[in-house]
Amino acid sequence: MSIDRRSFIKLTAVSGGAAALAACSTGSPENQLIRFVPDEDLTPGIAEIKNGVCPICRAGCGTTVRVMQGDAEVVRNGQTGVMTMSLAKKLDGNPSHPISQGGICPRGQASIQITYHPDRLIEPLKRRGNRGSGDYQPVTWDMAVAELVSKLDAGGAAVAALTRPGSTSRNDLIALFLEKSGAPAPVTYELFSDDVLRQANLRSFGHEQLPTFDFGNSRLVISFGADFLGTWNSPVSQMAGYGKMRGGRPGIRGRLVQVEPRMSLTGASADEWVAIRPGTEGILALGLANAVGAKNASQYTPAEVEKQTGIKADRVERLASMLKDIRPAVAVVAGAPLAQTNGLFTAMAVNTLNEALGAVDAPGGLSFTPQTGAGSARLQADKARSLRQFAADILAGKNVPQVLIVDGANPVHTAPPAWKVKDALAKIPYIVSFGSFADDTSVMADLILPDHSALESWRDSRPESGTTKAIVTVAGPAMSPLHNTRATEDVLLDVAKKLKKPLGGMPDSLSAMLQAAAGGDDAWATAKKQGWVELKDGKGSGLKAQGSSAPKASPQPSPLSPGFDGDPSQYPFHFLPFASQAFLDGSTAHLPWLQEMPDPLSSAMWSTWVEINPTTANRLGIAMGDMIAITSAHGTVHAPAVLSPGTAPDIVAMPAGQGHETFTRYASGRGSNPVNVLAPVVEPETGALAWAATRVKIARVSEGNGELVLYGGALKEFEAHR
Ligand code: SF4
Repeated sequence: MSIDRRSFIKLTAVSGGAAALAACSTGSPENQLIRFVPDEDLTPGIAEIKNGVCPICRAGCGTTVRVMQGDAEVVRNGQTGVMTMSLAKKLDGNPSHPISQGGICPRGQASIQITYHPDRLIEPLKRRGNRGSGDYQPVTWDMAVAELVSKLDAGGAAVAALTRPGSTSRNDLIALFLEKSGAPAPVTYELFSDDVLRQANLRSFGHEQLPTFDFGNSRLVISFGADFLGTWNSPVSQMAGYGKMRGGRPGIRGRLVQVEPRMSLTGASADEWVAIRPGTEGILALGLANAVGAKNASQYTPAEVEKQTGIKADRVERLASMLKDIRPAVAVVAGAPLAQTNGLFTAMAVNTLNEALGAVDAPGGLSFTPQTGAGSARLQADKARSLRQFAADILAGKNVPQVLIVDGANPVHTAPPAWKVKDALAKIPYIVSFGSFADDTSVMADLILPDHSALESWRDSRPESGTTKAIVTVAGPAMSPLHNTRATEDVLLDVAKKLKKPLGGMPDSLSAMLQAAAGGDDAWATAKKQGWVELKDGKGSGLKAQGSSAPKASPQPSPLSPGFDGDPSQYPFHFLPFASQAFLDGSTAHLPWLQEMPDPLSSAMWSTWVEINPTTANRLGIAMGDMIAITSAHGTVHAPAVLSPGTAPDIVAMPAGQGHETFTRYASGRGSNPVNVLAPVVEPETGALAWAATRVKIARVSEGNGELVLYGGALKEFEAHR
C-alpha cells in the first residue's frame, strides 16, 4: 500500500508520534497542543465566499460566509489540537436571496459566534449528577447512540419531541421519526408565537400563515404593535421594503403610523406614534375600517372609539382621512395586541381594515407566500398537543413519554412558571437533547448529543413570508466541524436504522432529503450554486402552492373586551414584556456581541431593565437606574428602571432574553426574566399564551448600584461625571 506524505503525517499526528507533531511552543507543557496537518488544500490570504442559512430565526435569510485560512483548536479522533483550516470569518446577506437581498440583521451577524463559542458543547455528554445540576461526563458517540437506541427500544411508541417551530427538513425529519415510531407529532413552543395571527388569517383569507408586505410600493403603513423593523417576522426583508417606501421612489416618501403603548424600534422610526389602551387596538382598527367603507362596522364611530381606546375622536378622524386620501395603504398587526385574551378579535379587526383598504393581494399591500402543504412540519405540529397541555398531562400522569427528544427549544426559560414545565420534564424517565449549549432546559437531559453548528453542516429553511415566491434557503458546510459533534439529522437516521425494529420509510440521508425538498436535480444544482431555489408547484417535499389569496369576506369579528390577570386596585400597571432587539426571546443571549450591543432605544447592554414613564416614576419616587421590584399575582422580578417617555403612564415594559440560570458564561445569572411574573392566561380560541395580559405593581427597592449598564459606561460612572 502506498501512502503519500500528507497522509503519513496526518496518521502520525493523530497517533501522537512525536516526529510529526509541532506542539505550540508557548506556555506550560499541559497547555501545549498537537498541531494537525491540514486535510484540505489552502491558499493563504485568499478569501472564498460561500452560501449559508441564518440559523437564528424563522425568517430564513440567506447569507454569505467569508471563509479564509486560519488556525483553530479542534478535536480529531478524540485528541485536541490546532489545525490550519478554512474558517468562517464574517457573515453577510446573500445579495441574490429574495429575503435578505444582501442584508442581515445584528442577530444574524452575531450567529458566527455560535461556532467559536468557548462554552459550546464539543462531545456527547451523559448525565452524572442530579437533573439540572449540569454534572455530565463525556462518552463516545458509539456509547451515546447505543444508549439512546436501547431507551427507544424499551419505550416503543412512548416517545415525544419538543422542538422549535419552523419549516425545515430537520423539523420534518423529527416529525417523520415520531410518525414512524407511532408517536404523536412534536410539541412546538415559542414565547412570542404568531399563532393567533395565523388563525385569524386562516379565517379571513384562507391562509394559516403570516403575510408578506409590499412596503416598497406602499404610501401609508399603519402598524398595530408590530415591531416589523426590529424583531417581528422577517425583519430584513421588511427593512428593505421600508427603505424603498421611505426613499426609494423619487418625490414620494411613504408614511408610517405606529399604534402601541410602549414605543418599539419601529415606533421610534414612525412619523406618528399613537399610545393606545392595551387590548383595544381592534376597536381602533374597526373605527378606521368604518371610515373607509367597511360593512358592519358602523357602530365604531370616532366617539365610540375614543370611549374604548382612549384615542381622541378628532385624532381618529384625522387618521381615517389619511387612510382615505393616501393609497396604497396597508395595516400590520403583531406582538402585544395579539397576546391578549381578545387577540383573535384584534387580528381579524385589522384584517377587516385591510380588506376595506383594498390591501389584500394588491400592490403596496399584503399577500401570502405559497407554502408547502400537507406533510410540512408546521402543519403536523399544529395537530400536536400544546406545551401547556403536554406539561399538564404529564403532571396528571397521562401520556407520559418514556423518551423525550429536545431540539432547539428552551421552554424552562420561556414558559410561564404556572405551567410547571420543569416539574413535568422531571417526571419523564429519559430526555435526550441535541443542543449545542447547556441551557435551562437541556440541563434536564440525561444525554446531550451536540450538533454541528450551522456553518459546519447542511441547513435549509422554507420561509413562511418575506417573499412573494415559495423558496427554500439551503446551504452546505462552509467549514469542517471543529469538535467531536455530529449533525443531528445523521444521528436520528443512524438511530432509526439501529432500533430493534428499524423505522421504515426514512430518507437515506440528509442530503437526499434536502435534494428532494429542493425539487429535483436541476433545482438542487441551482440551490447549491445560489444558496436558495424557487420551489415549483407539485415539486419538492410535499409542496402544494396555495396560490394567490383571493380576498374573501372576513367573518365580522365579534368585539371582546380584553381580560387581564390581577385586580387593578392591587396591580395598577399593565405589564408588557417585549422581544429584545439583541436576544429575541433569549435564545441568543449567550452571544457576547449581542450582550455588548446597546439597545437601540435605551442604550442598555449586558443587563435587563424596566421601562417606566417619567411622570409615573416621579410620582413613585423612582430615579433612573433605581432597582425596582415588579410583582404580579404569580411572582416578582427585579430590574433597574429606565425612565422612558415612550412608555404610557399605566404601562411597565421589560425586554425578554436575560435571567437564564444556565446559558454559558455570558448569560448565566445575568439580569432577570420577565416570564417569571407572567400569568398563565391564554387567548381562548388558539390556546396561545396571552403574554401581555398580566397586571403588576411596582416598588422601588434601592438606589441603583451599577446594575443598569448604559452605552459608554455604567450608570454610576455616568452620574459621577455629569
Ligand atoms: S432576520 Fe436576522 S436573525 Fe432572522 S434569519 Fe434574517 S438575519 Fe437571521
